[in-house]
Amino acid sequence: MTLTKELKQKEQPKQGMLENVMKQFNAAAELVDLNPNIKKILEVTNNELIIHFPVRMDNGEVEIFKGYRVQHNNALGPYKGGLRYHPTIDIDSVKALAMWMTWKTSLAGLPYGGAKGGIQIDPKKYSNSELERITRRFTYALGENIGPEHDIPAPDVNTNAQTMAWIADTYMSTKAPSERSKNQHVVTGKPVGSGGLEGRDRATGFGVFLTIKFWAENKKIDLSGKTFIVQGFGNVGYWAAHFLELEGAKMVGVQDAFGTIVNPEGISVEGLFDFSKNNSGNFIGFPNSSSIAKEDFFSLDCDICIPAALGNQITAENAPFIKAFLVAEGANGPTTVEAEQILLSRGIEVIPDILCNSGGVIGSYFEWLQNRNGELWELEEILVRLNKKMSEVFKKVLKASEEKGIDMRSAAYVIAIERIEKAYIQRGIFP
Ligand code: NAD
Repeated sequence: MTLTKELKQKEQPKQGMLENVMKQFNAAAELVDLNPNIKKILEVTNNELIIHFPVRMDNGEVEIFKGYRVQHNNALGPYKGGLRYHPTIDIDSVKALAMWMTWKTSLAGLPYGGAKGGIQIDPKKYSNSELERITRRFTYALGENIGPEHDIPAPDVNTNAQTMAWIADTYMSTKAPSERSKNQHVVTGKPVGSGGLEGRDRATGFGVFLTIKFWAENKKIDLSGKTFIVQGFGNVGYWAAHFLELEGAKMVGVQDAFGTIVNPEGISVEGLFDFSKNNSGNFIGFPNSSSIAKEDFFSLDCDICIPAALGNQITAENAPFIKAFLVAEGANGPTTVEAEQILLSRGIEVIPDILCNSGGVIGSYFEWLQNRNGELWELEEILVRLNKKMSEVFKKVLKASEEKGIDMRSAAYVIAIERIEKAYIQRGIFP
């Protein structure tokens, strides 16, 4: 039976991302024997904001939008996390994504906590000027719930440097003239001309590539000639594929919201990028590729599988069919707990999201420091620093995984949670 048929016959479970992150957290809490009082703090979010705000559309009508900002934890520093524009986001998915940010920033050794937010919207349905008004009004509604030393958003799915420039400009416009420039680092991921970091666009995908490279070096595997598939050809997926191709690896399948294409002989990453740019982001019809059913993507023949789109994509249903020897999680929460157990039992290793895609928040930290200190860093220096930081974090996870005989996700969680626990123990609980 093909995977497509198998999937059509089965009722797909609707496991939420929140359930997934809580299962991961509970398992890790047990592993580190987490102080029960600190566990009580970490299993809930600090603040959850749901905002309804009106925006005038191009046709003169007013539409009401729903925005979210969830601040999970700030024990280690200001809240940090992206803003997602997607019709499927809801309070639970934002809570899950905020929690993952807490573990990610802690694991990376950054002075940040974790947050996430976004708007429940399909941005494809709106004009650019409508998106600008929606973003600016959302920023205004968030008010002092964000701030350069309090909560610092960044790009995520369907948001980009332009979105961040609108947020920075709106936020700074609400300040007294003498205070404006001190608030530039209210968001990271800005365009380079507006205080952004050279290379921030590629930081996450470059980091995904680096973790794959470090993993392969440790296993004495040569990436040249290896095949990979990517789900999501956006910021993260494209850049990860770009650097893998430079290393000599071959992309044989790619899936995005428009569909799925394959070519066992290889799909040119740059060719596909240009083709899709000229077709309003749609790559279906790319020369020498064929379209396949969405459900058959994860069972494609390949060495490395990179989910770089949404959460809960690798499930107990498709995990048994995955052929890759490595899953590198570019996306946040792409693998359910049950699916990961299946993958591990089949000898397939997983580079967990909080390690694999942490190049983005590390790049954001560099941008924040650059703005805060009035500095301008050069691309070469930034990529060297990113490489060094990612290598240190990867080595820590590998060491913990080998010493404790646990998988890489568990090792990453152990490091992340122990750092936060230590901070709480040193400071105590007010009052
Ligand atoms: P993006 O908006 O640039 O790209 C998203 C991609 O996913 C697009 O190609 C889109 O077509 C595809 N997609 C959307 N729905 C899909 C579906 N149902 N099936 C298949 N593909 C689908 O977003 P991004 O910034 O590349 O983020 C991708 C993932 O990486 C998200 O999980 C995000 O949280 C995570 N991430 C992003 C960053 C960052 O710096 N941008 C950092 C860390 C983690």
